[in-house]
Amino acid sequence: MASRQELRERQEEPEHPLRATDEDVEVEREQGAPEPAELDPETKERRDAAMRVIRRFGDPVLRASAVPVDRFDEGLQVELARMGELMHDALGIGLAATQLGVLHRTLVFRTDLEEPITALVNPVLEWQSEELEVAEEGCLSLPGVHVEVERPASVRVRAQDPDGKELTLEAEGLQARVIQHEIDHLDGVLILDRISRQARKEAMRAMREAREEESAA
Ligand code: ZN
Repeated sequence: MASRQELRERQEEPEHPLRATDEDVEVEREQGAPEPAELDPETKERRDAAMRVIRRFGDPVLRASAVPVDRFDEGLQVELARMGELMHDALGIGLAATQLGVLHRTLVFRTDLEEPITALVNPVLEWQSEELEVAEEGCLSLPGVHVEVERPASVRVRAQDPDGKELTLEAEGLQARVIQHEIDHLDGVLILDRISRQARKEAMRAMREAREEESAA
């Protein structure tokens, strides 16, 4: 999932309904502080490099279903570490393996910069609240797209950690949203599938414009 920072950069209206688990900077800006300065050149360069390896809309791998992981070997550790690094460099808050063209049921997320990155292997949504919440989402695979998505407000996820140990995680708010967004990726589902036809049309236009801007730059 794209970062809130990125959402903020591109939004005309600084107000949006995401809340909680923010890093301090975000909280500051929530209270109407001015937009941050442009990314420093090094951060921007790292971000551009990460964005080049993240698969984009139109790549069929984003529509594929990932397969469960059954080998918790060194290869998996390397893969998860790389996912975490790329997510960090791309200034994202979540990344699924399919976004790198890897058909493994693995994802990483971090909704609070103070916290370490969490990697989930073979995540399964065990429970989703009846209470729904609408909030804006972006996606590293859909540059330029920011859409309101309705999802269950809280979830319980069963998964394995990078060593294969079973774990259960309860999440709400932004964290619940990111986890659901990334699990969707593992099933070939994109935020475009969770919005109205009209919103999808607008999203496609935004994506086209972002692409044109990029090639003009
Ligand atoms: Zn995404």
